[in-house]
Amino acid sequence: MKNNQFDFAVIGAGVSGAWIAYELSKYTAKTCLIEKENDVAMGATKANSAIIHAGYDPVPGTLMAKLNIRGNELVRKLCKKMDIPFRQIGSLVIALTEEDEAKIRELYERGLQNGVDGLRILNKTETLSLEPNLSPEVRGALFAETAGVCSSFEMSCAPAEVAENNGVELIRNFKVENIRINGEYTVLVSSSGQTVSARTVINAAGVHADEIAKLFGDDSFIITPRKGEYSILDNNCGDLVHHVIFQPPVKFGKGILVSQTVDGNIIVGPTAENIDDKENKATTFEGQLTAFEGARRSVPSVSERDVITSFTGIRPIGGKGDFIIGFSDFNNRLFNVAGIESPGLTAGPAIGEYVVEKIAESGFEFVAKENFDNNRKVIRFKDLSDDEKNKIIAQNPLYGRVICRCETVTEGEIADSVTRGAGARDMDGVKRRVRAGMGRCQGGFCGPRVMEIIARELDIPMSEVTKFGGASRMTEKEMI
Ligand SMILES: Cc1cc2nc3c(=O)[nH]c(=O)nc-3n(C[C@H](O)[C@H](O)[C@H](O)COP(=O)(O)OP(=O)(O)OC[C@H]3O[C@@H](n4cnc5c(N)ncnc54)[C@H](O)[C@@H]3O)c2cc1C
Repeated sequence: MKNNQFDFAVIGAGVSGAWIAYELSKYTAKTCLIEKENDVAMGATKANSAIIHAGYDPVPGTLMAKLNIRGNELVRKLCKKMDIPFRQIGSLVIALTEEDEAKIRELYERGLQNGVDGLRILNKTETLSLEPNLSPEVRGALFAETAGVCSSFEMSCAPAEVAENNGVELIRNFKVENIRINGEYTVLVSSSGQTVSARTVINAAGVHADEIAKLFGDDSFIITPRKGEYSILDNNCGDLVHHVIFQPPVKFGKGILVSQTVDGNIIVGPTAENIDDKENKATTFEGQLTAFEGARRSVPSVSERDVITSFTGIRPIGGKGDFIIGFSDFNNRLFNVAGIESPGLTAGPAIGEYVVEKIAESGFEFVAKENFDNNRKVIRFKDLSDDEKNKIIAQNPLYGRVICRCETVTEGEIADSVTRGAGARDMDGVKRRVRAGMGRCQGGFCGPRVMEIIARELDIPMSEVTKFGGASRMTEKEMI
């Protein structure tokens, strides 16, 4: 840590914390972004459906509705500016029964009240002409033009990078476990005894936000973890559907979807199960079965045979029916950003804006930086034309060496993912940023080469390269 006294300490580098840090980095106030893991986006932000919701689902008048609509608008603008993978493919909530038809009409009305553009109710023929692989039972659908799919990881990695490039300090492997007061500063104490002091602490700790609030004497909310299991299908199934396919929402959330991912795979899930252990990210046979049974109601030909990987995400359910965003009523040094359940990913950039607006309203005088820069460009070799590929290889020969053959990822991209702002520090961090190891062989061929590149770029021995930080070393000994 360079100097451990800050105006603002943001706890949690998920999508909420990252966009708050991004907004704060526009001003001269000193800010740090604290994360207990070795990388950004390790909580709910890492494992979700990655849908940018149009905004017809939240109850009108809620903060969720307001920030969903503004978030959708900002995502479409900022993803271009900051080179975050996003495709506006549109979504369909399909009706399979008469009751579903009533539900989609209700969602349509709600969408109009929330101010969603581009909503339409389609009949059976129109629906099937858009998506021929849907169940023949389909009776119609609610089409939302402004919905899309994104890289949920880059939705927090990119703002964290821009924030760091503009002066925010990203502090990894710092698990806030205690606090003490030192005059106008609150001292945050980590599990290993390190300290960081800040005048205002912004609590964006996801499923652990209630524990952070309690340290400040605030027990006004409890976060219940709700598990959601998913499967990803091989990209040769990518034409199964072309939009996000939802069924009408159910008691525990938006139900099971089938969708293209931003990379052209198909995603199936999530399940919804309240659990006790906030870190229980295990996938189960029963969970996968439930996800596929649900998915087959929408798309009968979707098959478990095409699964290449499965994962679980944990929703931070705040129990208030809305996002919990604002200064704590119990301690004015604490600003809570809690209960950020779906559509939290969509709302992320709007949450950042809203938090800064609220802090400014409380009397803090923000001074804008003259040189704030949110331009960001990532080279994705596979997507370049032949001319562009030749040009980039001439500039940097590392782009001429393909390391991950399944996903066509070059050495140049892997090195860049480590050295850029808020960069990768481990194997999983590289995988999430550039997809090396994400293909059919799941890193079997490229793993050792990726280790070498990380060790070289971070100037550490191979034996210190980890899978996901901490004690997760890839090898005990130096490799020759
Ligand atoms: C199954 C599922 C599906 C979803 N689908 C969608 C969707 O399609 N579209 C959408 O818009 N939203 C979706 N969401 C919601 C979205 O993922 C969340 O709203 C969003 O990711 C929450 O972000 P966050 O930053 O608030 O929390 P998190 O991403 O959980 O980040 C909290 C961070 O705080 C860190 N932390 C916790 N405790 C401490 C501590 N003591 N010290 C330091 N750091 C700490 C954690 O490690 C973590 O990185 C879904 C969520 C789930 C789980």
